[in-house]
Amino acid sequence: MSIERPATPERGDFIREIVAADLREGRHQTIVTRFPPEPNGYLHIGHAKSICLNFGIARVFGGRCHLRFDDTNPTREEQEYLDAIQADVRWLGFDWGEHLYHASDYFGQLYDWAVHLIRSGKAYVDDLSAEEIRAYRGTLTEPGRASPWRDRSVEESLDLFERMRQGEFPDGARVLRARIDMTSGNINLRDPVLYRILHAPHPRTGDAWCIYPTYDFAHGQSDAIEGVTHSICTLEFEAHRPLYDWLIENLPVPSRPHQYEFARLNLTYTVLSKRVLLRLVMEGLVRGWDDPRMPTISGLRRRGFPAEGIRDFAAMIGVSKNDSVVEIEALEHAVRTVLNRTAPRRFAVLDPLKVVIDNYPEGQVEEIDAVNNPEDPSAGTRKVPFSRELWIERDDFMEEPPPKFFRLAPGREVRLRSAYFVTCTDVVRDARGAIVELRCTYDPATRGGDAPDGRRPKATLHWVSAGQAIRAEVRLFDHLFSRPDPGADGDLFADLNPDSETVLHGALVEPSLAAVEIGETVQFERLGYFTPDRDSTPEGLVFNRTLTLKDTWAKVRALG
Ligand code: ATP
Ligand code: MG
Repeated sequence: MSIERPATPERGDFIREIVAADLREGRHQTIVTRFPPEPNGYLHIGHAKSICLNFGIARVFGGRCHLRFDDTNPTREEQEYLDAIQADVRWLGFDWGEHLYHASDYFGQLYDWAVHLIRSGKAYVDDLSAEEIRAYRGTLTEPGRASPWRDRSVEESLDLFERMRQGEFPDGARVLRARIDMTSGNINLRDPVLYRILHAPHPRTGDAWCIYPTYDFAHGQSDAIEGVTHSICTLEFEAHRPLYDWLIENLPVPSRPHQYEFARLNLTYTVLSKRVLLRLVMEGLVRGWDDPRMPTISGLRRRGFPAEGIRDFAAMIGVSKNDSVVEIEALEHAVRTVLNRTAPRRFAVLDPLKVVIDNYPEGQVEEIDAVNNPEDPSAGTRKVPFSRELWIERDDFMEEPPPKFFRLAPGREVRLRSAYFVTCTDVVRDARGAIVELRCTYDPATRGGDAPDGRRPKATLHWVSAGQAIRAEVRLFDHLFSRPDPGADGDLFADLNPDSETVLHGALVEPSLAAVEIGETVQFERLGYFTPDRDSTPEGLVFNRTLTLKDTWAKVRALG
C-alpha cells in the first residue's frame, strides 16, 4: 500500500458517477443507500467515511439512506452499541428519518427464503463440523470436495432445517449451505454457509430464534427488502459479490440491488478495527470507547473535533478503488481549518510563572477588551481581567536568551496580548535557586497593545490575571500508537505509545473558560485548540487538547 496524498476538495467519484448514470439512463427513479453497521462496537473514523458516502449520495441525488443494524451475531452485540451508533451518525450530521432497520426485522422472511432455496434444490443441510467444512472447502489452488450430505434429499433437508429451528440440535451440529459449485475459482461460491445454530438470546428477538443467518445470506436480501438500489461496501467484499448476485437471482426478492465496493480508510498511527479497539477498552489501556485518543467518532468528539471537520476530511480524501493509507495529518488539517474559523480565542497558561508589575496600582483590577476571533469580526470581544499579579508561560522567559529567543528576558520589553507592554526588571528565586517570580514594570500608554510612539516588541505573550484565574487540569494527547504502521512488526500492542497522554494539573485559565460547554472547542492563544472534558466539575475544570496550532500536514504537502 502506498501513502496517499489526498488532493482535491469535494470531487465526484466512481460511485457517484454510477449513481448519476443510473438516474440519467432511467435504471432508477430514486436512489436508496444504507449504512449497515454491526452493533458490536463503537463507530470509528473509517465508518465516518462510509457514512459520509452513503448519506452524502442520498442527499446529493435526492434519495434516502437507511440505517440498518446488521445484527446477525447475537453473541457480540449490545444495546449500548446500538445507542452509541445512532448518536454518532446523528452527531455527524445525518438523519435516516423513519428508515431505521435491523437485519433481525427480516429473520422470518429470511427463513422462508432459505426454505425456498431448499425446495428448489439450491440449499441443503450439512452435518459436517465447521472444521470439516473448512477442510473440504479447498484452497485458492485446489478445488473443494463435496460434503457427503450434499446430495441429501429436499425432504430430508427441509425436515432437518425445521428441526434446527426448533432447537433440536446443539450449536455447530449442522448448518444450512447453498448448493452452488465446490470447484468454483471463487471460494465464496463453494457452497457457502447460510444459517448456523446458535443457542444465544438476541438483543431484539430474544430467544425466538436459535438459528441465525450469516452476513452473506442476510445482507443482500435485506437490501432487496428495503429497496436499496446501491449497496456500497468496502473492497474485501468484492469477492462476495458473485454470491450476493447468485442469492438475489435465485430468490423471489422484491427488488434488485447492486453491490459496489470502495477502498476502506486506513490512517497512519491509527488502528481501525473494532476488535482491536474493543481490546484497548477491555484491557483498560484507554479511558473507554470515547477516550480522546481513540479513532472512534465518540473519541474524536470528546477530543473536540467538530463534525464539520470530519465531513470535510471525508470529502477531501474522496472515494476510490485503490487501497491506500491517508496521513493522520490530513484529518488534523481538515479539523484545524474549521476550528481556525470557528473557535473563540481564550487565554490559558499551562505551566505558569508569576509576574508582578511593580508600578501597577496594588488592588486594582481593570477589564481589558480581547478579540474573540481575528478570523471572524462578528465574534466580537470579551472582557478579561488585568491586575498587578499575572501568570505567564514559564517557557516564555529565559534568563540568558539565545539569539533567536525574542520572548521575555531580563531588561527586555514584550507585549501582553490585548493589554500592555511590560519590561522585566528582576528575577526572584527560591532557596534552591529556581525562578519563582519575575518583577516587571508596565507602560500605561500601551493599553490595548500599541505604543503611541510606534515601538513594537518582537514578542506577544498570553497571560492570565492571578486573582481571577481558574485552576484546571489539562490533558495533552499524542498518537495512540508510536509508529505510522502499528503492528507492522507483528505485535500491535507493543507499538502503543506510552506517552500518548500527558496530564497537567497546574494550568491557570481566564475566568470566562468556566462557562465553555461540553462540545465547544476554543483556542488557547498560542497553544492550540482545547475543549472541556466530560470529567469537568464546577470545582475542577478539565480540558482536552484537541490539536496544537502547528499544521504539520501543510508543511508535509509543501515538501511533497
Ligand atoms: P471493523 O473492521 O472495524 O470491525 P466492520 O467492517 O466489521 O469494521 P461494520 O459495522 O460491519 O464494521 O461496518 C459498517 C460499514 O462500515 C460497512 O459497510 C463497512 O464496509 C464500513 N467500514 C468499516 N470500516 C471501514 C473503513 N475503515 N473505511 C471505510 N468504510 C468502513
Ligand atoms: Mg463487518
